[in-house]
Formats: sequence, structure tokens, C-alpha cells
Amino acid sequence: MKHQILLLEDSFLNRELLCDWLEGEGYEVVVAEDLNTGLAAVRDHSPDLVLLDVQLGADDGLRFAKWMSNEPELQLVPVIAVTAQAMPADRERILESGCKACIAKPVDFVLLRTSLQRWLPSRDPVNLA
Ligand code: MN
Repeated sequence: MKHQILLLEDSFLNRELLCDWLEGEGYEVVVAEDLNTGLAAVRDHSPDLVLLDVQLGADDGLRFAKWMSNEPELQLVPVIAVTAQAMPADRERILESGCKACIAKPVDFVLLRTSLQRWLPSRDPVNLA
């Protein structure tokens, strides 16, 4: 069974780029473009991981990470932040919001691959049959 990733990103071009890359890596992808559609998508799909754009238009994407960390049934779902503002103070704020990791834009796909492999829950081989 494929891992499912929720990609929450407001930019159409970034969404297309990341979605295509993630599908090429073998993941199933659900996309959302703002906080409201993101909340609906995480409830409807129970993704294995969320890839979160920190600048969601006028909204702070970290509100989404904070919301997830306060929901008992969602707080174990790892969130990886993607941001153009990746200075140490920004990283600190991102990790404090509950994100597991922070990837700088433009995205280094080698780093993203490593981070996804680290944070996605491992599949029990017994259940893959
Ligand atoms: Mn954005």
C-alpha cells in the first residue's frame, strides 16, 4: 500500500511540481491550497504525512501544524514544513509549531526524499502481502 501525503501549498506551480515529484517517488498525493481545504483533506483522507507550505497566501501555514498537534487523533501525523524563510529563527518557530522538519525553498529533492523516508511511518512487511 502506498503512503499517502497531504500537500498543502497555495502556489499552483509549486503544487504541480511537488505533486508530480511525489507521485514519481511512489506516493499517493492529496492536494489542498488553503487552511480550510487542508483541514477538510486531513479529516477525509487521514494522510500518513503532511507537507506544509509555511506561507499559505495571507495565512500562516504554521496555524495548521499547531491545530494538528492539538488534535489527539492527528498529533502523531508528521508535518514537514517547506519555506522560503529558513533562517535559524524561522526554523525555531517552525519546529515549535509542531513540525518535525523544515525544508528550504527552492526544494532540494535529495533532502526532501531523506526527510520523507525518515518521518513516514514504516510499513510492517508482514502487512504488505
Ligand atoms: Mn506559499
